[in-house]
Amino acid sequence: MNFTPYNSNLFSFLFSSPTPFHAVTNIEKHLFQQGFIGLQENERWQLTQGHGYYLTRDNGAVIAFILGSDESCEQGFRMLAAHTDSPCLQIKPRAEIRVGSYLQLGVEVYGGSLLAPWFDRDLSLAGRVCCRMSDGNLGVYLVDFHRPLLTIPSIAIHFDRDANKNGEINQQKHLPPLLSQSVDGQLPDFTTLLLAQIQQEHKKADVAEILSFDMFCYDFQEPAYTGAKNEFISSARLDNLLSCHAGMLALGKAERRKNVLLFCANHEENGSTSASGAHGSFLDSVLERIITDPTSRRIALCNSFLVSMDNAHAAHPNFMEKIDAAHEIHLNKGPVIKLNANQRYATNSISAAIFKNVCKEAEVIPQEFVMRSDLPCGSTIGPITAARLGVRTVDIGAASLAMHSIREHTGAMDPYLLCKSIEQFLRSEAHRKIVNYCVR
Ligand code: ZN
Repeated sequence: MNFTPYNSNLFSFLFSSPTPFHAVTNIEKHLFQQGFIGLQENERWQLTQGHGYYLTRDNGAVIAFILGSDESCEQGFRMLAAHTDSPCLQIKPRAEIRVGSYLQLGVEVYGGSLLAPWFDRDLSLAGRVCCRMSDGNLGVYLVDFHRPLLTIPSIAIHFDRDANKNGEINQQKHLPPLLSQSVDGQLPDFTTLLLAQIQQEHKKADVAEILSFDMFCYDFQEPAYTGAKNEFISSARLDNLLSCHAGMLALGKAERRKNVLLFCANHEENGSTSASGAHGSFLDSVLERIITDPTSRRIALCNSFLVSMDNAHAAHPNFMEKIDAAHEIHLNKGPVIKLNANQRYATNSISAAIFKNVCKEAEVIPQEFVMRSDLPCGSTIGPITAARLGVRTVDIGAASLAMHSIREHTGAMDPYLLCKSIEQFLRSEAHRKIVNYCVR
């Protein structure tokens, strides 16, 4: 199998999506090109069977769905979910820090970042800027400096001989990146830089004043293959744009005969509690508007199935003591079904079995992950969505290494295998073929 075209498309999605806002815009663009119709949450909708639709909330989350021509809403939806955000450094509102001749930017840590890999990288800046326009309106713009702009230099080993042993990172003191230096008495100010960038990217913008922004640092290094046979992929934000990309492609290709839905939520990395997060009302409210009758909606949810996608931990060859030997996950060995006795993942025996049947139909062999019993388990949007909606859910994902690093790794076949399994799910009847003998 030649994975190159799939991975080339993934690489350009990853590199052109430095923030959740950019990822959502790219998903919208793709779905629009595939004939989906854009909806606005603050307008009334006219929905027709046989058509695909999409809408966004707060620029950071997107829901897309097809009302199948051959299915009633009560037959339920094949649902996919993923998250658009990744751990990173976010610029503080009053960003400028002046130390000697240097200009630095204050940052907060967004999500559970692995911080050491942020040092000595060529960082760029991207995000969303809100402006008062000359006509008095509020203008909201996406910006991406798209060049190496910032660095966080390490302290030389000579000043900290124990750096390789201890290496503690103080988030307030050690992380502000270097933006500029005054050599001729002149220092650019951050607002002027932002304004120039808006004008470069949005030629017609008539901005009077910048009022606020959500700006994030990101690693300006393109995704790449690594390994003697190009068997690995190395990139920023594989967690979880890899899954958003797979969901976007699968939904774009899905036949218009069946009910399918994709939810890409923001703010998973800090707990999902926001208007655009999985704990928020976005998905409930869209379902309420698709199926207005409460009883019909409940029947639809009982007949639905959710595949919640988020990357899974592969066994790290240098840390084999960190894994449960019976659940050793490998790159390039297929999508991973994630289980946890304490519901940190929503998978149960029924949802795992359904997904295994989907994989069999797709001729993909899945792997099964549980955390070591003496280590705490991470979580994802699966349990939150399952609890909110009461929908049967499986948590799955592509195997990966270095999760939450500035640069993560997966197998060259993993994104494609994930996509192949969910493409099959969107046409499968596997979630409906259940006879529950536990019930009399
Ligand atoms: Zn994730």
